[in-house]
Amino acid sequence: MPQSRPPVARTVPALRKALAPYRRTGVALVPTMGALHAGHIALVRAARKRARRVVVSIFVNPAQFAANEDFGSYPRTFGGDLKALAAEKVDLVWAPNATAMYPEGFATRIEPAGPAKAGLEDAFRPHFFGGVATVVAKLLLQCQPDFAMFGEKDYQQLQVVTQLARDLDQPVKIVGCPTVREKDGLALSSRNVYLSTAERAVAPVLHRTLKDCATAIRKGAAIADRLAAGREAITMAGFTIDYLEARHAKTLAPVASRADGPIRLLVAARIGTTRLIDNLGV
Ligand code: AMP
Repeated sequence: MPQSRPPVARTVPALRKALAPYRRTGVALVPTMGALHAGHIALVRAARKRARRVVVSIFVNPAQFAANEDFGSYPRTFGGDLKALAAEKVDLVWAPNATAMYPEGFATRIEPAGPAKAGLEDAFRPHFFGGVATVVAKLLLQCQPDFAMFGEKDYQQLQVVTQLARDLDQPVKIVGCPTVREKDGLALSSRNVYLSTAERAVAPVLHRTLKDCATAIRKGAAIADRLAAGREAITMAGFTIDYLEARHAKTLAPVASRADGPIRLLVAARIGTTRLIDNLGV
């Protein structure tokens, strides 16, 4: 028997009304931009473990795309997304359009610092975290969840959102969830559909390189040397690298050696017209 579709709220008043009876037993929010894949579904299942009611937001947030980025072509698969969420027995889908989220005259933007200025994604997408922080703050205030689930796949974003919830005194626990990968190691991403067959074949080099670097650093190799070798491997495979860096896992500050604290390796690289990111703990 196919599950019936979850209720969909399209306006803030409709959202509030739908959420009111859920408050007593706890709500977990899973913010997404749709084009759902198994990584998103893992967040939904993690949400289900934390709270009786699970709300998934689907909103392709124009505020986090620069003019030259892929807002227009970002995959939108709302019908399929609803089916997948029905199968997970999601309680509510929050799917505002751009006008419901940013009504005429909207004039507030959150400017995050700290992890949002680490010199990673922010160096290449200066617009990005302001847009993310603004929409996530709105989503938290709109839904007032007890838990909000975010993927480690977007590792800097997870740190930015954690900082934001703390700084704005939001009574929510931000929960980071492990990255879901294809069998060959490629991190699932809505943007993987952009890859040609040839690009898809070389894409796992990102995860493989992170793994090789992590193993070598764990065994005592010099971080700078390993990163240089990693950059070469990724470039040789056909990528143009934006960054491959070793950072402190919590603060995202640069690290020179393992003595500087827990290390996270983070990479962003472009192949053809597609930009992929990934990261791994050492
Ligand atoms: P997006 O729809 O790409 O904005 O992602 C929505 C949420 O899903 C974010 O918290 C992402 O970090 C998370 N996410 C995306 N891809 C993955 C993945 N492969 N594994 C786990 N979480 C993911």
